[in-house]
Amino acid sequence: MKIIDAHCDVLMKMYENENIHFDHHLFLDVTKSRLLKSNTLMQCFAIYISEQINNPNIDHILQYVYIFHDKVLKHNNFIHIKNKSDLKYALTKNKTGAMLTLEGVDALGGNLTYLRILYELGVRCIGITWNYGNWAADGVLEPRGSSFSLKGKKLVEICNDLGIVLDVSHLNEKSFWDFTSFTNKPFIASHSNVFDLCNHVRNLKKNQITEIIKINGRIGLCFYPRFVNNSEDAYISDLLKHIEYVCELGGEHHLGFGSDFDGIDQCMNDLRHTGDYITLKETLLKYYPENIVEGFMYKNWFDFFEENLPNN
Ligand SMILES: [Zn+2]
Repeated sequence: MKIIDAHCDVLMKMYENENIHFDHHLFLDVTKSRLLKSNTLMQCFAIYISEQINNPNIDHILQYVYIFHDKVLKHNNFIHIKNKSDLKYALTKNKTGAMLTLEGVDALGGNLTYLRILYELGVRCIGITWNYGNWAADGVLEPRGSSFSLKGKKLVEICNDLGIVLDVSHLNEKSFWDFTSFTNKPFIASHSNVFDLCNHVRNLKKNQITEIIKINGRIGLCFYPRFVNNSEDAYISDLLKHIEYVCELGGEHHLGFGSDFDGIDQCMNDLRHTGDYITLKETLLKYYPENIVEGFMYKNWFDFFEENLPNN
């Protein structure tokens, strides 16, 4: 069974330490050989510039793009997913797809012309904020608790026109609801869980989940223990409750995974790296029919991107 994972931060680790290569199992959760072994159809690679870096700018983003090419795409079998046909090609030819995403638009410094350039570089998904506020909108931990700026709204319009999918994970609730009122394309929450089961500010409230289902978006459940059961000690059995919750709201075709591997400092006991997706799949098969598990593991994401990526 194939796998699609909507969020990981392995580029950040390779950016912050140039000696780490893409098969360094000691330092990385997502590695070349684990992706191959687990039969991953597509991994999203986030460009996330750490909040430790003062005044991030476009140069930082370009460095990440360089690392993506130099350390990931250079490997046999990896292909850059930029459009529908890349995705179909990866599926039929058994390739490992790699999608480039941006987490937080801070480094664009409000320059909207960069969006077109990012599109040309193959960025196909943008999370508008990280936890704090930026020039476009506010994240979940921003004390001012505001919403989209005029430029932020313009960013949404341009991304919708270009064919860059927008990601609402990390947005505060006010920005989320504002966003739903003016965006005109289906959107995703690439790595967030269910607030009713784990009351962390990064998780989605019931009405947010219902909204994502309604607009035919997708939710990528995340493997960070604090978003699963608010502790450092979580198991797949705890994650199953989140899956069941979304299914009960009618979201069995709107659910997938966005591990956040390499962006998290603690892991679930039985989901420590990309290779453990095999354990997750085997556990899910005990509870759900094969076609539904296939949906969770990759098909729901596949259908979404097949519909929302550019034609070519
Ligand atoms: Zn994140």
